[in-house]
Amino acid sequence: MHNLKGKSAVITGSTSGIGLAYAQHLAQNGVNLMLNGFGSLEEIEKNRKSLADQYGITCLYSPADMTKPNEISKMMAQAIDEFGAIDILINNAGIQHVEAIENFPVEKWDSIIAINLSSSFHTIRHAVPSMKEQGWGRIINTASAHALVASPFKSAYVAAKHGIAGLTKTVALELAQDNITVNAICPGYVWTPLVEKQIPDTMKARGLTEEQVKKDVLLAAQPTKEFVTVDQVAQLAMFLCSDAAASITGSVMPMDGGWTAQ
Ligand code: NAD
Repeated sequence: MHNLKGKSAVITGSTSGIGLAYAQHLAQNGVNLMLNGFGSLEEIEKNRKSLADQYGITCLYSPADMTKPNEISKMMAQAIDEFGAIDILINNAGIQHVEAIENFPVEKWDSIIAINLSSSFHTIRHAVPSMKEQGWGRIINTASAHALVASPFKSAYVAAKHGIAGLTKTVALELAQDNITVNAICPGYVWTPLVEKQIPDTMKARGLTEEQVKKDVLLAAQPTKEFVTVDQVAQLAMFLCSDAAASITGSVMPMDGGWTAQ
């Protein structure tokens, strides 16, 4: 357990996968939460209520669309209003689209850059004054191994994630003397609904078994041949929030089973 009780966090894209794991770990540590993301409202409410009830925290939900700067502003203002401050900001919302550059749909490019990159600029610019006021802050961006290396057919995603690495370093330097750290976590393939859903189609398209798809297609570049787990990513984030991590800032950290060591 880290000493975070009573602090407040905004986590974008926390209705599923890695974002939901961050929410669970922060809630366990007594942090009040602003959840965000899309999905079934019934399921979101169920998760919100169970986090609040189980851990005795205040847990709010904002449906703000990360492509819309005015909705992001409202979400951040609401969090400051309700909690009095934003101590921890986790930028995690993200989408993917896989297509050759010459056929890449312009609107997909625009929405990936907006969700995976620009939304973090907007959340950060709103959170920083509150963190400066508190004299403490933690900003964590979920980047990707694709912040460090590329794969073909993922131009928008790789560009946005490399962009997040640059944003992380820049803001870390600006806030280095304010007791606010800014870091990016770069997971390789993580076992989330997003990845799980690709398996049946890939089995059909390539005539492979589920095990072959996992090891030879999805994990082709991941030397451990194991998926990263959402809990492992969330545990690293909890460490980055701790006092022991006060000197870690501006880092773009792989958690990728050796992918980017190659
Ligand atoms: P996921 O699809 O389970 O979660 C994505 C979250 O973003 C969901 O809560 C979704 O509702 C939200 N979201 C999408 N569009 C949004 C929008 N316009 N406004 C607000 N919220 C929006 O996927 P995940 O695998 O948990 O991914 C989370 C982050 O981790 C992403 O940034 C992704 O790029 C990154 N990542 C994932 C993997 C992986 O293998 N799963 C690897 C490296 C990095």
